Amino acid sequence: MEKQIVILGAGESGVGAAILAKKKGLKVFVSDSGIITKENKKVLSNNEIKWEEGKHTMEKILQAKEVVKSPGIPDDIEIIQAIKLAGISVVSEVEFAFRYTKAKVVAITGSNGKTTTTLLVGHILKKAGLDVLIAGNIGVGFAREIANRDYSYIVLELSSFQLDGIKEFKPNVAIILNITPDHLNRYENDFSKYIASKLRITMNQQKEDVLIYNRDDKQIKANLKTKAKAIPISINKQIAGNGAVYKNNKININLNNKKMTIQELALQGKHNIYNSMAAAIATRILDVKNDIIRQSMLDFQNIEHRLEYVLTVHGIDFINDSKATNVNAAWYALESMTKPVIWIVGGVDKGNDYDEISEIVKSRVKAIICLGESTKKIQKYFNKIVGKIETVSSMEEAVRSSYQLGDKGDVVLLSPTCASFDMFDNFEHRGQEFKNQVRKL
Ligand code: ADP
Repeated sequence: MEKQIVILGAGESGVGAAILAKKKGLKVFVSDSGIITKENKKVLSNNEIKWEEGKHTMEKILQAKEVVKSPGIPDDIEIIQAIKLAGISVVSEVEFAFRYTKAKVVAITGSNGKTTTTLLVGHILKKAGLDVLIAGNIGVGFAREIANRDYSYIVLELSSFQLDGIKEFKPNVAIILNITPDHLNRYENDFSKYIASKLRITMNQQKEDVLIYNRDDKQIKANLKTKAKAIPISINKQIAGNGAVYKNNKININLNNKKMTIQELALQGKHNIYNSMAAAIATRILDVKNDIIRQSMLDFQNIEHRLEYVLTVHGIDFINDSKATNVNAAWYALESMTKPVIWIVGGVDKGNDYDEISEIVKSRVKAIICLGESTKKIQKYFNKIVGKIETVSSMEEAVRSSYQLGDKGDVVLLSPTCASFDMFDNFEHRGQEFKNQVRKL
């Protein structure tokens, strides 16, 4: 029987879901209130999928048996309310694509570290010679890939928005890295709603499934409920039974009384110890050999824009952490700095509480360069904490000023703590511009 599936939003995930739906013999209609890119229009037309742009025709949409909503569309807008009122099920692309795979699924969420951990888990599984798809928030969409073929293992990076749209999605292994305030504008400024959204990753898991969680994170510890086998990770704290602890520069893993240690990690910084512990447990559970896990931890290539070393110019190191768009990510970046820091910060503030980083800023930062929209708030907050604060109006100026302020043995860190949309297309564009300017010095 043909069913009418309506896809709202024709970005990567929406177009992927449409292709998958079509392949599975469903009658599909795509509706986007904005303009659909030329490429995506072509893909839709080539697949004989009907679409509209610049509007949502409600009569058509309300005929749907189910609506697949792109994670970018908020829940509280009128059209979504109307669809729900009509009793039509609204799901995310992840929920939809999950129905069509038989793969073992590792799903990763958290406020920070999702991409890094997803790629690391994917790297280890690939190194073990397994047939792996890495998808979700990363690269090509989950649904679009599954429309092509199924895989044996799927590693998914999941944002809270994608988790909001799941109903039956049930990963074999779930990872919750951390929960700190972010995107609160989408959750009525209610942190508890955002926490609940992240914890949905485990809501359908059963005792045969595994949940790896950060026990040092107070929100996770206080709010976690699961039927899955829960395995904690921690730095320095004692864990009785299954889990991973980092102590004396070593990761110690205990799973069903089988022990394993990991000493050398390619990724630097305390935050990456959590990411590495989570990835090691997830892949051990999937029966990857210890040696392969250890080797993968060594040869994993750091990803662009996350604490990425760029160049040393006249003894001053330049580091690109453009992906740090919130206070927690910046905390870990600053924490891992061993030299006096000239910190380039600013952009679109998503509700930053700088109290959380004032101590670490005091201990690490010798000068601040403010760039972008939230300059005033940053200046006001840090002016008694940091001796020198300068405001600039371009990345070129930011790099030049930081270079002039720096002495041999300092480090210039771009860790903006804010989103990039005031001056740049996205965080990649911001990081690229930083690197271009550094290379011109
Ligand atoms: P996400 O996909 O969740 O945004 P990324 O791996 O892209 O995460 O990292 C985002 C930012 O957070 C980077 O600045 C990175 O250095 C920092 N980061 C990475 N892992 C963690 C972690 N476990 N805790 C806090 N910050 C982290």
